[in-house]
Amino acid sequence: MLFLSLENQIFFLIVLTFSFLISASALAVKMQTLKMRVFELAFAIPFILNVTAFLTAAYNKSGATSLLILSHILLIVDCSFVLIITQGADALKLFAVVPFIFIGLGFYLSSPHIYSCLFAAMCFVTFVFLVINLVLLINNMFHNEKSHMTGHAGIFILSSSTGLWLIQGTITAEVLILLALGYICCTFYVYNNTLAEFFRDYQDSRESLKRMNSSIHAEVIRRVEAIEKSNRKLLEKSKTDSMTGLFIKSAIIEKLANILERSPRMNLSILMLDIDNFKHINDSLGHQHGDLCIKSLTNFAKTSFRQDDIIGRYGGDEFIVILPDTPSVKAFIIADRFRELIQSKSNPEITISVGISSYPEDGKSPAALIEAADKALYTSKQKGRNTVTLYSSL
Ligand code: GH3
Ligand code: MG
Repeated sequence: MLFLSLENQIFFLIVLTFSFLISASALAVKMQTLKMRVFELAFAIPFILNVTAFLTAAYNKSGATSLLILSHILLIVDCSFVLIITQGADALKLFAVVPFIFIGLGFYLSSPHIYSCLFAAMCFVTFVFLVINLVLLINNMFHNEKSHMTGHAGIFILSSSTGLWLIQGTITAEVLILLALGYICCTFYVYNNTLAEFFRDYQDSRESLKRMNSSIHAEVIRRVEAIEKSNRKLLEKSKTDSMTGLFIKSAIIEKLANILERSPRMNLSILMLDIDNFKHINDSLGHQHGDLCIKSLTNFAKTSFRQDDIIGRYGGDEFIVILPDTPSVKAFIIADRFRELIQSKSNPEITISVGISSYPEDGKSPAALIEAADKALYTSKQKGRNTVTLYSSL
């Protein structure tokens, strides 16, 4: 009985498992080249012919044996041609139907009277394709073309196994080992050119997607930071006066409130400055001249007061200066020095009157301090202008 011997059972197991796996992947794996699909389809030859051989072996042993050998010779021929065709989709499409012609041919040639005449031809064909695949394998090795190397190696080993089988006339352990090795090589070739390639593409796509994501993320952060920066600039701009660049009234009151809240124990003074007879300057010399006076006073204030002092335009020709860490006496000296500077150096010529209030003695809140400084300023005006007055002296 053909399939009762251990060698035959192992043979049958190897051939059916691998040929089924490879030929099924022609239909199961969607993303693959036509060449790979046709190569895989060739393994339908041993699968169908070997199943038939198994089913018919009980009553036609010699026919079954012929089918087994023929199936491998036809597989070797078909696969070799598919591997050799490097271009031409039409030629490959033609080879997609060849396995089915070969299956028919296998059935025809396996009839005992034809098979016995063919023995020499089969040996010759096997030898020729063994040599062809060996040459192509060596050529691939020399040119380091890895993609088809395992394919040629697989078919070369299958040719060796079939040749040995033909010479020995029976399935031996060596035939089985070579057969298994040949099929493993072919399976590896198929895997490497289908699923492995797909996984590689998938991995590449994932990596490039990751890179894209992180560069988008960085770009978003960069833009958000730019927007925040320009928002901060806009906010600062909205707090300053366009003509002088000094803080506007609401901003300076806010700053004063912040300082008092943060440092309630601090001695602090505020100066209220007002240009004397500014209406007259405007009326007699014109508004543009008046504007120059305001700008000139601003420049003197910016260069005269300390870095920590905060200067604002309270409105019209009225200015406010917050002097942190400055008690009233010191504030008086600073204010009078500034008044003298304006009187002597300003161009166009102007004079200023100043009112001073100090925290905490003259008021506890920004509103109270500003009111006190305003009162002191009013007194300076009443005293004849170009004067500095302390609220505490009223
Ligand atoms: P006093 O000495 O009492 O302060 O008299 P004054 O004439 O300066 O009176 P007041 O401070 O009330 O006058 C302010 C004038 O400043 C009124 C307004 O026409 C003028 N003014 C306000 N803002 C501007 C400005 O931006 N440019 C110019 N050229 N004039 C301004
Ligand atoms: Mg004035």
